[in-house]
Amino acid sequence: MELQIRGVSKTYANGVQALKDVTLTIPVGMYGLLGPNGAGKSTLMRILATLQTPDAGSIRLGAIDVLKQQDDVRQTLGYLPQGFGLYSKVSAERLLDHFAVLKGIGEHRMRQDVVGSILQQVNLWEVRKQKLGSYSGGMRQRFGIAVALLGNPKLLIVDEPTAGLDPAERVRFLNLLSELGEHSIVILSTHIVEDVSELCTRMAIIDQGQILLEAEPLRAIDGLRGRIWRRVIAKDALLALEREHAVISTRLFGGRTLARVYSETPPGPGFEPAEPDLEDVYFSTMAGHIGRRGEQKETAVAQ
Ligand code: ADP
Repeated sequence: MELQIRGVSKTYANGVQALKDVTLTIPVGMYGLLGPNGAGKSTLMRILATLQTPDAGSIRLGAIDVLKQQDDVRQTLGYLPQGFGLYSKVSAERLLDHFAVLKGIGEHRMRQDVVGSILQQVNLWEVRKQKLGSYSGGMRQRFGIAVALLGNPKLLIVDEPTAGLDPAERVRFLNLLSELGEHSIVILSTHIVEDVSELCTRMAIIDQGQILLEAEPLRAIDGLRGRIWRRVIAKDALLALEREHAVISTRLFGGRTLARVYSETPPGPGFEPAEPDLEDVYFSTMAGHIGRRGEQKETAVAQ
């Protein structure tokens, strides 16, 4: 099964064009949709979750026409929105049971089995009797996934799920998504590059409503080999460096600045070749050096 998004555009009533002719093909597995705040990620996620309609375009999930057969999509969809609210005074087990009733799992024994197995899957079984108000950020996110899993979704959409999680919780949460990606389409929308680099088998970079790059993370990184250079400079030398070179990112490094530069040929004395990473892919794409915006076309980097 594949999710096929073709030519989707959306302009809000205030004139903001949130999506511009978005075309993506998303297979089973974990797919990262990476972009800065305001890029259009949530708009696309809400459209896929049938909560909003686009002005143009078509979307198919396998045989289902997502824009026309909304009930069929909802049957097979799990959606974890950004910053969802939870009742804080009930236990995870009770609330999940309640949602299971709403999902139509009426028979008590069966419901117990389903709720129990999902709580184990998201690793909340031990704390199932605790009130949700006492849960940490990571536990709440995993409870959100538990709710999304009730319908046994073929398409799971999670919008900015790792914001505010501590590193251990983040890793545990991403591992859970990656397990789910073995059998379903899992779309992870995020502005955090490491979320994508660790587990996503495919990704797209979106900015100002447009898809700038669609790629496999490892291949995109490989495509940058030989084109990323680094140099340690004094802080006040940055402006001069930027005038001469395509500086894609800077990091502080022992009180000095470590600049990374995109260049297809050696940029000159003082630079050393750097091992490219997904941050380089992201910043080079955002700056237009690679991807659909730059002249170095996607085929050269991503295919
Ligand atoms: P992201 O999830 O990548 O941060 P969004 O999809 O939330 O991006 O927003 C894309 C653009 O659309 C932004 O410029 C945002 O301000 C605008 N936008 C989002 N929702 C609405 C809305 N309901 N009405 C008007 N503009 C909106």
